[in-house]
Amino acid sequence: MSFEDKRFCFSCKLDAEQLMKKNKKLKTCSTCKIAQYCGQECQRRDFKGNHKRICIDGFKHMRDLGEEAKNILEEKGHDLGRSSLQEFFDDNDAVFQCIKKSNYEYIADHANGNLPLERGEIVDLGQVFWTYLNCKNCSVKCMGIIARQGESYHGLQKALEAYLETIMVLQPNKMYLRALVPLLLIQLGRDDEAYNFIKFWLKNTPKEQDYITGEDGLFPDLPFKEHTMKDQDKNEDIFKVLDIRMDEKPYFIYITFYVCLAIIKKNIYDATKDETQKSLFIKCLFYAKKHFGDIMKRGLQFPPDYPRFTPHYIPAAKYGLKGGLMSNQLGVESFGGDFLNNFIDDLNFYLARAPGLRQALINYL
Ligand SMILES: [Zn+2]
Ligand SMILES: [Zn+2]
Repeated sequence: MSFEDKRFCFSCKLDAEQLMKKNKKLKTCSTCKIAQYCGQECQRRDFKGNHKRICIDGFKHMRDLGEEAKNILEEKGHDLGRSSLQEFFDDNDAVFQCIKKSNYEYIADHANGNLPLERGEIVDLGQVFWTYLNCKNCSVKCMGIIARQGESYHGLQKALEAYLETIMVLQPNKMYLRALVPLLLIQLGRDDEAYNFIKFWLKNTPKEQDYITGEDGLFPDLPFKEHTMKDQDKNEDIFKVLDIRMDEKPYFIYITFYVCLAIIKKNIYDATKDETQKSLFIKCLFYAKKHFGDIMKRGLQFPPDYPRFTPHYIPAAKYGLKGGLMSNQLGVESFGGDFLNNFIDDLNFYLARAPGLRQALINYL
């Protein structure tokens, strides 16, 4: 079930209407602008509990570091207001050459995992730009986590907007975030839009490709100006409509699309009892299982707070995952594990509100 479109205190959970009767008003956390509280006591309690970790240590830290990187680049005359990464690189060759020289790797201090910019050091502009890019990516993810932990409809809307903006502006490097978008839409009760979105990407992704971290070269005509279709029929059989064969290898990150398609079908079935939709629910999961084995099922069978995958659990070659920008195999495998963890975390929040669905997914996955 999707989140309810109403505002409430993240700590005591009283909604705006109940609070009005107590002469209280909701105030928004000035940092993340997502969490809301009825007063200082509730804010303090939530802050001590969990909010500090994700809002200050996560979101704010990433946002500020990204801003710092952005300021450094702009001071040096590099305008970041471009419509795509490619356009930025075309106009800022000096930055691109630095990134190339470092083999697209983070320049990190492996002893403590910090980036040089976190220690106030600038190695080169490529490193600064890479910091900007990844901080933007991480701060957006933090917004999603804050929203779903608070089961906040308006917070999730904000996170969704930030995801879409990041995907479009940082093409192709952070476009993989698109794989996490349909579930955000489903959590907002916007199944039609989730279907339109999935169909757009399945249609526009070249078939039977390996997933390469960074996705350079996959889409010849970047930047995309759109990220979704309009008014598609979520009742249709997408395999037929887009001519997807059962033995055709799916694009690695689209495992999430097939699970989301199954959820959309199940939601239609629950509302209409249309048996065709039930069989399409099974078909989507069968396809995911056929190509990805039990990686999704295993993720769902662990308790929601269990650390599910260590990197070596996602053997990259088996699932068509390739290095690309990442030069070592461990980096690729850890990307795969991290990606699935992210999705399953999101999915667990949705499934907590849809008790029958978890078992139905496990049965067919
Ligand atoms: Zn409260
Ligand atoms: Zn906050």
